[in-house]
Amino acid sequence: MSTTVNAYAVNESGAKFEAFNYELGDLGSHEVDIDVLYCGICHSDLSMLNNEWGMTEFPFVGGHEIIGTIKAVGADVTHLTEGMAVGLGWHSNYCGHCASCSSGDENLCAGAEGTIVARHGGFADKVRADAEAVIPVPEGLDLQSAGPLLCGGITVFNPMLQFDVKSTDKVGVIGIGGLGHIALKFLNAWGCEVTAFTSSDAKRKEALQLGAHHTLNSRDASEIEAAAYQFDYLISTVNVKLDWNLYLNTLKPKGRLHFVGATLEPLDVSAMSLIMGQRSISGSPVGSPASIVKMFDFANLHQIQPQIELFPMDKINEAFEHLESGKARYRIVLSNV
Ligand code: NAP
Ligand code: ZN
Repeated sequence: MSTTVNAYAVNESGAKFEAFNYELGDLGSHEVDIDVLYCGICHSDLSMLNNEWGMTEFPFVGGHEIIGTIKAVGADVTHLTEGMAVGLGWHSNYCGHCASCSSGDENLCAGAEGTIVARHGGFADKVRADAEAVIPVPEGLDLQSAGPLLCGGITVFNPMLQFDVKSTDKVGVIGIGGLGHIALKFLNAWGCEVTAFTSSDAKRKEALQLGAHHTLNSRDASEIEAAAYQFDYLISTVNVKLDWNLYLNTLKPKGRLHFVGATLEPLDVSAMSLIMGQRSISGSPVGSPASIVKMFDFANLHQIQPQIELFPMDKINEAFEHLESGKARYRIVLSNV
């Protein structure tokens, strides 16, 4: 039996979204169909829409911060049932048998499928995915604001686990947008002393309410220079080039500058700064299903919610214009409800 999906697609790079229907075909035995309730808009949707990474296929249906309910379950799926509240993020399938998948690092699987890469995502009334990529939402988590946890949230939470960020660490978050504002909340609840680096004067005040203890101007060299040797861990969520050598010098010996923001320009960093302080630079993509479960539990326990602005799904073009204006506070969520 075929199912029609009512979605919004752009037909060429940089174009506006238009109503678009497609058929799902037969449901595979390991797959589930999800009725989409809410879907967050990540900056990666904008980068994909503009084909900045050279991997967009048109018509393009973005949306990879999906909250919905299970509509149909494949014959071999045992852990998800009809009507269950679930989330789907950047990945919609994993190969399931490579070394990364076998060791619980599914997000590093070279064969993983992106929810919006060469297939259609959550700017729609329905979406299909492999059941392994679909995560039940625990009781108590607010469904309206949980979508952004599925990409933005897990992307900043996962490195806290991977690199063993400690509650006694002094940490910095560079760029206070969709990802950055969730990072402030998580790192504060983790127990860290948190500094927000922002290019916006207005956000400096807001960042203190979001969980930062201190703020610095991310583009002011003198402010950053004055913070030399302060941080154990910095996470960059910006998609632009900043003076990374200045940031490296704010790290303590053995400190780490971690990139999750998809800065296209190559990093231009001093080897001596890395060598003399035994500092590290790293990057990571989203997080594994098990890490998403951990993040959900952590967010639930500490009542951490992304700060969202809700737009009806059919106002998707207005929502993207709002994101591009830089005025979003702090994550836009499209609603079918
Ligand atoms: P966003 O909401 O647009 O936030 C990006 C922030 O970067 C802005 O709020 C701004 O913060 C800062 N910024 C933008 N232009 C700047 C400039 N010219 N100078 C200084 N700061 C600037 O985007 P997002 O959704 O959080 O995504 C951030 C990046 O992460 C994107 O590149 C996205 O593709 C990437 N991403 C990566 C992963 C992953 O798995 N690694 C997952 C999701 C997203 P201030 O206003 O505070 O300066
Ligand atoms: Zn994303």
